[in-house]
Amino acid sequence: MITKRLLLFFPQCETEKPIVYHLVKDYDLIVNIFRAKVTPEEEGYLVLDITGSEEDIGRGMEYVRTFRVTVDEARKGVRWDEKKCAQCGNCLTHCPTGALFIKDRLTREISFDGSKCIECLDCIENCPFAACSSLF
Ligand code: SF4
Ligand code: SF4
Repeated sequence: MITKRLLLFFPQCETEKPIVYHLVKDYDLIVNIFRAKVTPEEEGYLVLDITGSEEDIGRGMEYVRTFRVTVDEARKGVRWDEKKCAQCGNCLTHCPTGALFIKDRLTREISFDGSKCIECLDCIENCPFAACSSLF
């Protein structure tokens, strides 16, 4: 069993389809949705973890792509900009998973581990320097 973090983009006409239901029922996948959004233009974004065998995940993603849904394995819904980060530490008490963390105890340098981010968006609300942002 493996788990993959994916960002799915649904074009306007595909947001109503029960795609996640079929991933669970027909492809034996465990789906953990972190964030879903439909824009005013009725395009949809979904950030999720999918757990299953590599073969089932591959078959599931083939199915998803038949709906003109874009599957992006590289992008995350939340982004941390190292250049904008002033290392103030304000986000540390707000981040529930340790995705924003102290990398070096001596220098108190802060870093970001996207694999731990659950897209709660608390850092975006609480970063005074706009170092954290959302892709959608
Ligand atoms: S979105 Fe939430 S989990 Fe992710 S880095 Fe920000 S506070 Fe942490
Ligand atoms: S609150 Fe923003 S500027 Fe401060 S350490 Fe966190 S990400 Fe960097």
